[in-house]
Amino acid sequence: MQQKIARARRQALQPLPGATTLIAVSKQQPLEKIRAAIAAGHVDFGENYVQAAYEHWPALKQEFPHVRLHMIGHLQSNKAKEALALFDVIHTLASPSLVQKLGQWKQQTGRQPELLVQVNTGEEVQKSGVSPLVLPAFLHICRDAGLDIAGLMCIPPEQDDPRLHFALLQQLAAHDSLTTLSMGMSGDYEHAARMGAGYVRVGSAIFGARPART
Ligand SMILES: *Cc1c(COP(=O)(O)O)cnc(C)c1O
Repeated sequence: MQQKIARARRQALQPLPGATTLIAVSKQQPLEKIRAAIAAGHVDFGENYVQAAYEHWPALKQEFPHVRLHMIGHLQSNKAKEALALFDVIHTLASPSLVQKLGQWKQQTGRQPELLVQVNTGEEVQKSGVSPLVLPAFLHICRDAGLDIAGLMCIPPEQDDPRLHFALLQQLAAHDSLTTLSMGMSGDYEHAARMGAGYVRVGSAIFGARPART
């Protein structure tokens, strides 16, 4: 997979700055599979629920301090404290109340995780994320709260060509001088890498199909 990502990056229209980091999305996967992925050299892992991440990751991070954990699911502001204690990167900043929580925490501790703003590029009612139209205002709120924003994240609507959404995310990021794009999943991570993704988030193509939720 790393080779496919490297090849896709070489096919980019322009030389790409930075690197594309592969996030192994381990949500709902059993502990043995996660351990095997760490043993195989994966460093970056993604989870989409704070509570589920607490099942395995506090112990795993203690055992493997080099591992970086990414929050890629909707994050409620009442879970912010727990998320801050476990995650290194949050890809789903999208509500002013979460911005306020993170801003307060930064004032108290001087620290913040790496932060990306989730953009609802397809304007889907069932998806969270900031609408592209209000993104500049939202980024303003983030900066007022003292937060550094590294970039933007999107989850394209299933029926659309993801490249349209990756291109929109690129444009929105460039407009605000943001450098890191979190885009691309199992079905489209090569497109995303070719279009300069800083993070691709791949689950089933690494771990196989997810077991049904219990
Ligand atoms: C589950 C998930 C992924 C990974 O999905 P796959 O299709 O299994 O690669 C990526 N991003 C987010 C936000 C997810 O929730």
